[in-house]
Amino acid sequence: MQENVIPHNFSVDREMRSSIKGHGSFLLWFTGLSGSGKSTIANAVEKELVNRGIHTYILDGDNVRKGLNNNLSFSPEDRKENIRRIAEVANLMVDAGLVTLAAFVSPYKKDRENIKQILGADRYVEIFVNTPIEECERRDVKGLYAKARAGEIKDFTGVHAPYEAPVSPDVEIDTTQVSVAQAVETVVKHIENKLKIDE
Ligand code: ADP
Repeated sequence: MQENVIPHNFSVDREMRSSIKGHGSFLLWFTGLSGSGKSTIANAVEKELVNRGIHTYILDGDNVRKGLNNNLSFSPEDRKENIRRIAEVANLMVDAGLVTLAAFVSPYKKDRENIKQILGADRYVEIFVNTPIEECERRDVKGLYAKARAGEIKDFTGVHAPYEAPVSPDVEIDTTQVSVAQAVETVVKHIENKLKIDE
């Protein structure tokens, strides 16, 4: 079937969409354990970007797992498909000219490499929210660690399922060492050049 899908040459491209918006577009991918602070930091980064007049969109477990991916489980195959679909959606958003933020545990190195492949290396910024598991479990924001320890959730990352830490992320944040505001500053500083477009 795929061989009969022939792309149409559309006249408006990403550069043209970007130039109307006045900034570059790319994906900020937040990875880390549940409770590490991905959503909190992504939310604060988006707020800062919007204050600067940047066009953004944020993808997270709530708006993706409940809709587009509501037929997927937490098995390794479904986690892979979950991330693949999110990366494809993010790619369309980046093509639309948006600075896209995505906060997902995304525990497998191979899946994150796949995101980078889909987006292209210069449109993918990997942010590793590297908060120690003891602290994530102490926070237990959603009560999920307690449930996992009690055996009520299987396949829970950090408890019975592995988290493969990024080896060379673009940005690394340990939330036991820095505040949310400091984390935002670090991320925004890192992407300042990417936001610029050639006029
Ligand atoms: P995740 O999206 O990774 O599952 P959340 O952002 O939902 O994590 O939860 C992280 C929790 O940690 C929040 O309750 C947040 O207020 C708290 N927290 C404490 N200090 C920080 C910090 N420096 N950065 C981010 N979150 C922090």
